[in-house]
Amino acid sequence: MDGDGGKRWRFANPNPAVAAAGERSIQRYLVQLHACLDEHGPRPIIPLSHGDPSSSACFRTTPEAEEAVAAAVRSGEYWATPPPPPASPLAVAEYLSGDLPYELCTDDIFLTSGCTQAIEIVMSVFGQPGANILLPKPGYPKHEAHAVFHRMEVRFYDLVPERGWEVDVESIEALADDNTVAIVITNPNNPCGNVYTYEHLSKIADTASKLGVLVIADEVYGHLVYGSNPFVPMGLFGETAPVLTLGAISKRWIVPGWRFGWIAICDPKGILKETKVVDSLRSFRNLTTDPATFIQGAIPHIMKNTNDEFFSKTVELLKETAEICYGEIMEIKCITCPHKPEGSFFMMVKLDVSQLLDICDDVDFCSKLVKEESVVLLPGRALGMENWLRITFALDPPRLKLGLERVKSFCQRHQSPSS
Ligand SMILES: *Cc1c(COP(=O)(O)O)cnc(C)c1O
Repeated sequence: MDGDGGKRWRFANPNPAVAAAGERSIQRYLVQLHACLDEHGPRPIIPLSHGDPSSSACFRTTPEAEEAVAAAVRSGEYWATPPPPPASPLAVAEYLSGDLPYELCTDDIFLTSGCTQAIEIVMSVFGQPGANILLPKPGYPKHEAHAVFHRMEVRFYDLVPERGWEVDVESIEALADDNTVAIVITNPNNPCGNVYTYEHLSKIADTASKLGVLVIADEVYGHLVYGSNPFVPMGLFGETAPVLTLGAISKRWIVPGWRFGWIAICDPKGILKETKVVDSLRSFRNLTTDPATFIQGAIPHIMKNTNDEFFSKTVELLKETAEICYGEIMEIKCITCPHKPEGSFFMMVKLDVSQLLDICDDVDFCSKLVKEESVVLLPGRALGMENWLRITFALDPPRLKLGLERVKSFCQRHQSPSS
C-alpha cells in the first residue's frame, strides 16, 4: 500500500503465517454469506450455521451460573490479577475426576480462555518444524489453523460417514511416521454430531500407544449426548496412551462469551511429566494470562450448584431439535444425512448438486440460499468437505422448522426436472 507518497514502511509485511492460518476459519465463510444477504429483505434471517445457541431464549444458561458470576463481581475479591485462586482449578479437577477411574489434582489442570485457548496452547507446545499432527476430516477449523500457525504439518484422517463417522483407525497407522506427535479427536463431534463408543475410543488409544503418540481430546461438547452412546471421556484410556483433554463451560453451560476452559492432563502413568510436556505447559503459562478472575471466582459455585434439571432440559431440547432436523432433511431429495446426530448440536449432510439445475457446489448453494431464503447454512468446504453442509439445530423449534422448510422449498425450486 502506498498511502504516504511512496514512503516505505518497514512494518508493511506482517507475518504471512497469520493470514494463512486465519484462512482456516468458519467465520470467513459466514462473513461472505452475510454479505450476500439482503438486509432490507422482508424476512428475518434464520441462522443454522452458528456455534452458539445462547441467542435462543430456550438455550439460556442457568440462573445459578448468572448468580455465581454476579456474586463474584460484587464480592470485591476479584478486582486485581492475583495468582489464580486454587479453588477454580480444584473445582475443574473434581468435575472431571467424577467421570474417571483416577483422581486429577490441581497440578493436572491448566485454566484457559475457553477451549480455543486450550487448542492454541497445546499446538504451541508441540508445534515445531518437522513435527506432524493427525486431525479429523471433517474437522473443527481451529485445530488446523493453530497447528499450521505453529508450523506443524497437518495430516488428515477420515471420519467414515457409513460407520457413524467413526475414525478410520486403520488409515491412522499408514498416515503416521516418526515425526507424528499427536492425534486429535473431537468427541462428541463437531461437525458430525456423533458420539464414540467405549470400544472405539479404546481402539484409538491402542493405536496411539502403538505409534507412541499422544491423544488430544477436544471434549468441549462433553455430556451433551442424547442417543444410545453415553459420553465416555478419553481420559478413561490415559493408562494406555497419555491424553490431554480440552474442555470449557462454553457449550454445556451455553456461555461461550464467558471464556473459561481448561487443559487436563489425563496421564496416570506420568509419561507427560517424564517427557517434559508438563514443564512446557507450565512455561507457556508465563507467556499468557489466566481467565478473568471473577469467572474463576464463580467456577466452584457454577460447577457445584448447577442442578441436573438444567442439563437434562438442554439435552432433551437438543434431542427434540435433532429429531426435527433429521426428519425435515429426510424430506429433501437432494440432501441426505448419513447419520442421525446423537451429541453436540450439529449435523453433516451430503448435497447432491447433480439434482439441482443452477447450483455448482456447496458454497454456491449456501450463497443462493441466503439470498433467496434468508437462511444461513455452513458450506462443508469450510470443514474440508466439498458438497457437504453443516446444519446447527440448536435453535428454538419453531424457528428451526421454519428455516428447514425454507431450505426445502429452495431445493424444490432448484430441482432439475430430469432428476
Ligand atoms: C466451540 C468449539 C471450541 C471452542 O470453544 P470456546 O470455549 O468457545 O473457545 C473448541 N472446539 C470445538 C470442537 C468447538 O466446537
